Order: sequence, then C-alpha cells, then structure tokens
Amino acid sequence: MNDPKPVRTIAVADLRYRGALPHIPDLLSTPSGQLSDRLHRPLRDLRISVTDRCNFRCSYCMPREVFDKDYAFLPQSSLLSFEEITRLARLFVAHGVEKLRLTGGEPLLRKNIEILIGMLAELRTPQGRELDITLTTNGSLLAKKAQSLKDAGLRRVTVSLDGLDDAVFRRMNDVDYPVADVLRGIEAAEKVGLAPLKVNMVVKRGTNDQEIVPMARHFRGSGAVLRFIEYMDVGASNGWRMDEVLPSAQVIRRIAEHFPLQALEASAAGETAERWRYVDGAGEIGVISSVTQAFCGDCNRARLSTEGQLFLCLFASQGQDLRGLLRGAYSDEQISAAIAHIWQARSDRYSQLRSAQGAELPAGQRRVEMSYIGG
Ligand code: SAM
Ligand code: SF4
Ligand code: SF4
Repeated sequence: MNDPKPVRTIAVADLRYRGALPHIPDLLSTPSGQLSDRLHRPLRDLRISVTDRCNFRCSYCMPREVFDKDYAFLPQSSLLSFEEITRLARLFVAHGVEKLRLTGGEPLLRKNIEILIGMLAELRTPQGRELDITLTTNGSLLAKKAQSLKDAGLRRVTVSLDGLDDAVFRRMNDVDYPVADVLRGIEAAEKVGLAPLKVNMVVKRGTNDQEIVPMARHFRGSGAVLRFIEYMDVGASNGWRMDEVLPSAQVIRRIAEHFPLQALEASAAGETAERWRYVDGAGEIGVISSVTQAFCGDCNRARLSTEGQLFLCLFASQGQDLRGLLRGAYSDEQISAAIAHIWQARSDRYSQLRSAQGAELPAGQRRVEMSYIGG
C-alpha cells in the first residue's frame, strides 16, 4: 500500500491576516526618534514587502503544492503604491528607523521598483543622515537591473543562494533555475558597487547542507559576506521539521575544519548574524541562528506587508492595518501617533519563548507567510 500523502495547510493571504484599524491616541505628540517597546527595544529597521509574487518556489518559503496556479495572489489594487510606501517610510524614519530593506516575494518583480528606491533615497533621518537602503533578492533579475538599481540610490543588496551545485540549486528553487544566472547577477551587482554584498544561504539538513563548504570556498576572499541561515518555522505551508534544521554551531564546525575561523564582535545592536572571520584574512562569514539561538532581546525590526499591514514579529499571526489609515482621511500626525502606540505596546519575542519553553502559537492561530511580509 502507498504511504498517504503528507497533509499541508493551504495558506491564503487574505483578510485573516488583516488586523483592525489601529487605535489613534488622543494626544498627538511629535516623534522623538527614540521609541521604545515594552522590552526597551528601539525601532530602527523597517522591512518593506513590495510584492507577494515570486518566480521561484523555494520549498522552505513558497512550496509549489501551495503556491500553485490557483493560488490567490494579491490584486494590484491591494498593494501599497510607491507614494503610500514612501509616506509611511517617512513617518517611520521620524520615529528612529535608519535602515530600509525592500523584500517580498521577489522585489525585483515589482514594476518600476527603481522609482520607489529613488523616492526612498530622498528621505533623511531627523539628524539629516541618509538612510541605509538595501534589498533582498533571489538574484534572477539582478544582472539586468544592477545598474539601474544603483543609479536609483540603492546602496547594497543581499542575494539568496542556496548552493553552487546546479542540480542542488535547481532543486532548492524548484523552478529549474540555473545557478550560473544568479552568479552572473552577483557579479553585476559587485561591478556596479552594490557592496559589500551579502549572500544568504538557507541550510536544510539533508537537502543542501553538502553545499556549505563549497559555498564558503567560493566566496572566501571575494569581498562578499556569506551568511548561513537556519531553516525557520515561518509560515504555515513549508512543512517545517526540527530534524531538517542544521544548527549554526555545526555549520561553523564544518567550515572551520577546512578554513580556521575566529569569532567577531557584533558590529551593531540588533544585528541578526553572529560574525566570524577567516583566520587567514580571507574575509568574514555570518550565521543566523533564529532557531537554536534566539535573538529577540534586541530585535528592532518592523515589517510592512505588501498590502500595508504592520507586523511586529516574523512569527506574528496578525498585522495592524496601516493601509486602512492611509486610505482613510487620516493625517500624518494621526498615523504617526498610531505607529508609536503600536510599537510602544510591542512585547513579541517568539523565538526566545520557543527556545525557552518549546512554545507554540495558541491553537487556531496561523502564522503569516514569509513571502507576504518578507524576510
Ligand atoms: N525573494 C527574495 C529572496 O529570496 O532573497 C526576498 C524574499 S525572501 C522571503 C527573504 C529571505 O528569507 C531569503 O534570504 C530567504 O532565503 C529567507 N527565507 C525564506 N523562507 C525561509 C525559511 N523558512 N527559513 C529561513 N529563511 C527563509
Ligand atoms: Fe521566492 Fe525568496 Fe521565497 Fe525563494 S525565498 S520562494 S526566492 S520569496
Ligand atoms: Fe524579532 Fe520575532 Fe524574530 Fe524574535 S522571533 S527576533 S521578536 S522577529
């Protein structure tokens, strides 16, 4: 008899993610740039998802059994416009955000993304500094777009690449996309000065972990910073299992057997990656241990979904409907006060609770998909 097929939850980016219209405080105070949540964490980093669509079907993010031809992606009218995104970004910057990351889905699929980058690049912190604007991409359109992105004001890019072996890479992206095209994209990005470039590799034990050392060897001495990400239990559709997580400590051990490594201090508070350098001076790598070593303690990131829902944690099951405020008759002062109120009430620390207690979400709550709020 055949084994029964594993059951998957069908995830639909619909109203169930959408929170109520945020509360507008009666007192509209001027932003101080020093917002702090209930765990004393500032707001510094805003990740903006510009599309929920993608041309890849990475099994850990958008498995094709769920994100198939019948999947209901968001209609254009649901997406925040560039003007709406920029208006919100300006309000977040006044509250202390210094770093903007465009993500998705695949952000380079959003039409005229360069125009948005140009608009965001004009924003300044209250102290008059430029923002750190970056973008995470699967690299498939990078060779074509690197120059126009740089010209628009993008500073850096992070490229996701899960292996160098063509067969392994095609299996990971599940659309038969060749690794050579992504490598060409990386080259183009470096050539136009979108640097220092970061390369993210999600490690799935038993699927692509044999690529760890070849990836380290390839990017050593190139100037790019390779970062290994533990396969996370985000969303509800990837069929995550703990035995497919390869702890970062093992990644470091495997690389150090070939190329000795030394731990480095974190360069900034709230940094997700633990940094290591090659003892022989061939650069550095990072590990992001979201599963085995939670880093909620200084998590200063907020996420804006493709349709303008504000999420305070990657593992949240509901957002706050900022788009409702944008499209209602609310002033900048009112929306700004609502954002402050939301951040000040934040106490999310999902990864920490999970590692401490094996905590799970209450029954019936469903986590938002990574492709909807961005990584
Ligand atoms: N499409 C772009 C890309 O792949 O770079 C941007 C969006 S993607 C959701 C952002 C990042 O999330 C990628 O680096 C991806 O590898 C990572 N990611 C997605 N699902 C993940 C998971 N289950 N565990 C760990 N990282 C994941
Ligand atoms: Fe697409 Fe990025 Fe998700 Fe892969 S990780 S399916 S490239 S959004
Ligand atoms: Fe931040 Fe939530 Fe991740 Fe903790 S689990 S680091 S609070 S996004």
